[in-house]
Amino acid sequence: MKDDASVRDFRAETRAWLEQNCPPEMRLPIVEEERCWGGRKWTFHSDAQRLWLERMADRGWTAPTWPREYGGGGLSHAEAKILREEMDALNCRPPLERVSQALGLLGPTILAIGTDAQKARFLPPIARGETRWCQGYSEPNAGSDLASVRTRARDEGDHFVINGQKIWTSHAHLSDWMFALVRTGPDTPKHAGITFVLLDMDSPGVDVRPIELISGKSAFCETFLTDVKVPKENVLGEVNDGWNVSKILLSNERNSISTARNFMAERSIGLTALDRQREGPGHESDASLLDTSLRERIAAYEASAWAFSALSERAGDLAAAGESTAAHASVLKIHYARLNQLRTSLMLEIGGSDYFEWDAPVSDAARLWLRAKANSIEGGSTEIQLNILSKRVLGLPNL
Ligand SMILES: Cc1cc2nc3c(=O)[nH]c(=O)nc-3n(C[C@H](O)[C@H](O)[C@H](O)COP(=O)(O)OP(=O)(O)OC[C@H]3O[C@@H](n4cnc5c(N)ncnc54)[C@H](O)[C@@H]3O)c2cc1C
Repeated sequence: MKDDASVRDFRAETRAWLEQNCPPEMRLPIVEEERCWGGRKWTFHSDAQRLWLERMADRGWTAPTWPREYGGGGLSHAEAKILREEMDALNCRPPLERVSQALGLLGPTILAIGTDAQKARFLPPIARGETRWCQGYSEPNAGSDLASVRTRARDEGDHFVINGQKIWTSHAHLSDWMFALVRTGPDTPKHAGITFVLLDMDSPGVDVRPIELISGKSAFCETFLTDVKVPKENVLGEVNDGWNVSKILLSNERNSISTARNFMAERSIGLTALDRQREGPGHESDASLLDTSLRERIAAYEASAWAFSALSERAGDLAAAGESTAAHASVLKIHYARLNQLRTSLMLEIGGSDYFEWDAPVSDAARLWLRAKANSIEGGSTEIQLNILSKRVLGLPNL
């Protein structure tokens, strides 16, 4: 922004608008089930949730930095940061999940390399929360080694016909569209024969089967594709250049997994431990803060969380300046996974046996601890991120 006065004005206007337009219910702490993912199959939890999304989307603030013509707010990176800070200060919930496949991953990729027609068609419904997307990358024999995807796309002139299977497709059963990597060049080297397509989940031949987890929930699906027609105008980037498109998107994914989470906007776990101690006798955790080792580890975590916040802010600035690299995204992703796993295990230690119940009335700490295990797998495992760093930063050879 140009000068201090315009920063102050923008901050004051933003705060006033949020105070006037964010319904009180949308300022209460959010629970997992009430996160808003949008899409045609989405059911709003309350009128307030619907209203909040509509108001923010009308203003373009669900996708603050996207151009206005594509449903965004046209804000600069600095203005978007102020908006986030003011939303945090007033406890406003995100009206739409920022780290979703649509808003966090695909949208920025379409903005970067899509045609004008693709931007006009796909971005406004994403910004308004009208379409939900899922990610069709992994296959039974292609996870870390993603370039081994086998789902085949046969060229039929103005369209492709797709056959194959995707797995671990998060929320495919709730999604309207899928972006997928498919093999278009079976005889070329494996990285060169992949194309990135946008596929309507209502197309004939799409069969989604939710995978039931031990928790009883179904966050993942197997997605079978049998003779699914995809028009060529739904290819993002060039045919056979999908590997490069996927790298842009994976960088967006790693950035958004790690930068969407502001640990410092969350309650300090040291203070949570103190509260538990003051709750009085009857809790195993009463004595937890007498443990010097635990106190030291909480302090070390809090210091790392501050450092991570500064690092992710810097990464956001670099990305806005077009200076972000795959290595930056990998560093953030590794650090985020470790920190979140540390946070959730410390929370369990503080809570003692009170927290160690699946459906504990006092806390969802056990579920969060278990969910954090996936942080070092989803979006590319920690080992794969370390491989990227060893090659790109340290210049080490492949073994
Ligand atoms: C919560 C969650 C959500 C997900 N959502 C989606 C989704 O929406 N869409 C989608 O397409 N996929 C999704 N995935 C799948 C995810 O991308 C893969 O699980 C991940 O890429 C790892 O692949 P894999 O499971 O096949 O494991 P593998 O590739 O078989 O790896 C197994 C182990 O070997 C290690 N390993 C593999 N290769 C190497 C190597 N070269 N060097 C060192 N170690 C190695 C890995 O780090 C891992 O520990 C999701 C996964 C999770 C956990």
